[in-house]
Amino acid sequence: MTAFDWDGRVVPYPADRATRYLASGEWSETPISARLHESAQRHGDRLALITAEGTLTYRELDERTDRIAAALGRLGLRRLDPVLFQATNRSAIVLAWYGCLKAGLVPVATLAQHRMHEIGHISRKVGAKAHLVEAGLGFDLVEFARRVADGHPTLRTVLTVGAPASGAHRIEDLGADIGPAEARAFVESVEAETDPRDVAVFQLSGGTTGVPKVIPRIHAEYWNNALLYAQALGWDADTRLAHLIPVIHNAGISCALHAAHSVGATLILATPDHVAAFELMAEHSVTDVLIGHGHYQALRSAEFEPVLRTLRRAVLSGAKVPADLFSRVDDGGTHWAGQMFGMSEGMFLVTRADDPEPVRRTTVGTPIAPSDEVRILDPGTETEVPDGAVGELCCRGPYTIPGYFDAPEHNAAAFTSDGFYRTGDLAAIHVVGGRRHVSIEGRIKDLINRGGEKVNAEEVEVLLMKHEDVAVASVVAVPDERLGEKACAFLVSETGAILTMPEVQQHMDALGVAKYKWPERLVWVPELPKTNVGKIDKKRLRADAAALLAAESTPQGAES
Ligand code: AMP
Repeated sequence: MTAFDWDGRVVPYPADRATRYLASGEWSETPISARLHESAQRHGDRLALITAEGTLTYRELDERTDRIAAALGRLGLRRLDPVLFQATNRSAIVLAWYGCLKAGLVPVATLAQHRMHEIGHISRKVGAKAHLVEAGLGFDLVEFARRVADGHPTLRTVLTVGAPASGAHRIEDLGADIGPAEARAFVESVEAETDPRDVAVFQLSGGTTGVPKVIPRIHAEYWNNALLYAQALGWDADTRLAHLIPVIHNAGISCALHAAHSVGATLILATPDHVAAFELMAEHSVTDVLIGHGHYQALRSAEFEPVLRTLRRAVLSGAKVPADLFSRVDDGGTHWAGQMFGMSEGMFLVTRADDPEPVRRTTVGTPIAPSDEVRILDPGTETEVPDGAVGELCCRGPYTIPGYFDAPEHNAAAFTSDGFYRTGDLAAIHVVGGRRHVSIEGRIKDLINRGGEKVNAEEVEVLLMKHEDVAVASVVAVPDERLGEKACAFLVSETGAILTMPEVQQHMDALGVAKYKWPERLVWVPELPKTNVGKIDKKRLRADAAALLAAESTPQGAES
């Protein structure tokens, strides 16, 4: 077998490193679907999944997804066909995920919020063959899928989860007429053809420039990435892990779905609505949870109180952790808190059980794989900065991609000459107890981290400037209590006309841009400040925007 390289668009790992990772066991020869089956054989009657809709044991999950896979094969979908995913956290999305993997299909982790601007581009980039959408949401994704497929060069099949929809194949109903032995034989025949270096999943990058980049994750490393993470946190079959943010995203798959199932744990799959999520977690005796910075505020709420009864470990991620928040989930006794850093391109860092409290409070810990390599480089160079100094976090290892999909020019700048990925995040090393802990100190890349969803500033600027009344647009992050950050657009008028917020929203909507990317604040200015090399001074704009918000939140008369 040889891996399919998508006509040269997938960058392979260098052969020497691949050999080393296989020898060390950090890479596996076994396809992801077979890893799930192995887990299911070991943990058959244990609960694999809990959602608001019900529960599934490992055996049920395994058997149902075998049948779904066989049915997907009958629909004419073939190994390595990409499938776009647009759905919220629910049981059927888990069935769809594993069903696709078992059929050898390649899930593409697009979001339910994506619209034509994103889906039109990504679907063509990867040559998507099927589009899986959730029916019954406020926005009609089924009708949207039909529009996307209209005139599309490769998209032929619409799959749905949720409410029944005419003319589409509903995941929940697929494979009911296929016997378990026949379904298993089909899955095994697909696995026999799978090369460990084949692409298993396409994730999306928050992006550094322009449109989102596609991240190919391969069978050899992807399940193990999650297993290493679960092991770093000491999870086992007694763990009841909750997840509140979109599961079809790298953090959802690697820190939740695959992580839980790699060690026989139970995944409590909740939704971002923290009230409902905390209720579900308390009802099902949650032990562990990943809290993204979009939910930091929710931890302070009274609704979180019942969760603390059984919660043992909380992992915080996405932004600096305020002291009161850390103490809310770490009492030095039964409640333990830590931090993690992760990205769809690979590298995960996490604090460990035995890390002293100050390390867990201020750093994101150490890498999860023995062969992971971290370097903190002087930005734009290949020179390492001394320990303690801030530089760009760069990394290489068994599950960090050696290149984006079909992006040779971008790859040339995104990696060092010896293959370290430049994350665009600023970090420093702190040596404590002989371990090299990493702290995250900001970022160089120009994006807004809106409650975990990354908004690429340049992408939004280009879209805003498509409006005839906008001469120049510059988008920066402003602090937001609930989301951590949100986007503020500084605009210079082309015609003298000043667009209102609804007019800008209408413009973004007409361009088919996902709503979470729309600026939530507009500031019209006669001109934009420049640095002494003539670039737009974003640092100054960030400060101006923050000052503006602070002034607005100051009660009237408080300054006098
Ligand atoms: P994604 O690929 O969407 O998971 O986003 C990865 C990016 O999220 C990283 O490159 C960072 O910019 C940001 N990120 C992840 N974890 C942390 C963290 N603990 N602290 C600050 N930023 C983080």
